Amino acid sequence: MLGSGSAGNSALVATDHCKILIDGGLSARQIVLRLEQCSVLPEQLDGVLLTHEHGDHVCGLEVLCRKLDVPIYANSQTAEAVRCGCSLEQHRNWRIFRTGADFAICDITVQTFPVPHDAVDPVGFAFYAGSTSLGFVTDLGYATKMIVERLRQVHTLVIETNHDEKLLQNDIHRPWPVKQRIQSRHGHLSNSAAANVIEELLPGKVDRVVLGHLSRDCNTPELALQTVRDALKKCGKIDIEVFCAAQSEVSPQFRIGETTRGHFSRRLKTHFFPQHERSDGDSQVAAEVCDKTGNENS
Ligand SMILES: [Zn+2]
Ligand SMILES: [Zn+2]
Repeated sequence: MLGSGSAGNSALVATDHCKILIDGGLSARQIVLRLEQCSVLPEQLDGVLLTHEHGDHVCGLEVLCRKLDVPIYANSQTAEAVRCGCSLEQHRNWRIFRTGADFAICDITVQTFPVPHDAVDPVGFAFYAGSTSLGFVTDLGYATKMIVERLRQVHTLVIETNHDEKLLQNDIHRPWPVKQRIQSRHGHLSNSAAANVIEELLPGKVDRVVLGHLSRDCNTPELALQTVRDALKKCGKIDIEVFCAAQSEVSPQFRIGETTRGHFSRRLKTHFFPQHERSDGDSQVAAEVCDKTGNENS
């Protein structure tokens, strides 16, 4: 996690062959600096995946992509919302997916699914590589049955613990409508709501939980960790690792599992658009086809 919280979100998912940025909600400068701390240059990114268009997930993207022709993966509505009125309209390397679609970026299979949140078409992700997987859900009002099913196979889960319900209720700075929005079914998960989702996943494969997207005023890492640890203890699952990501610093790197080392054929990239697959594996062609598809959808 390069940084996570109500003020900005960005994460790096990597294998030996592939580096994907999830969201670009820190300043471009911070994204570059924090990638550097992970020994990654921006030019090495194989893609930027967007969950939704809110500023705390995309605010650094425009500057980051000014000099960087990195593919940006988003569904058409999110892409349109992000592109609107900024220089990202000129960015040539958009890759539009349909929410619910699976696709490959190098050796990572990305599964997308809708999440309930007050954005145009917000998504969560499950990543599969080798024998291991990672679930990624931030910004959701509640977990639908489909979300729980999608996350049942994952080993590491990134989930938001946005607020402590009491701290939010007692907060004197937020007007009532804002509190209602946060607590609504299209808002954010509280600590205890996230703990309930994690409990639902316990018959699955999850062995590590990373908490994120904490509200600066209405939560603390201690409260989030305690709520989730208490829930796990209640279920007799004390062996599950729980970590809370911070806003201001890069989290430790979590090794999720093994993927195949050695040579990897970049041609797999074109699996993103199997119907347009070309024998030369030209990803730029795929990107152009993708742009067209996106426009047709809008
Ligand atoms: Zn957010
Ligand atoms: Zn949001």
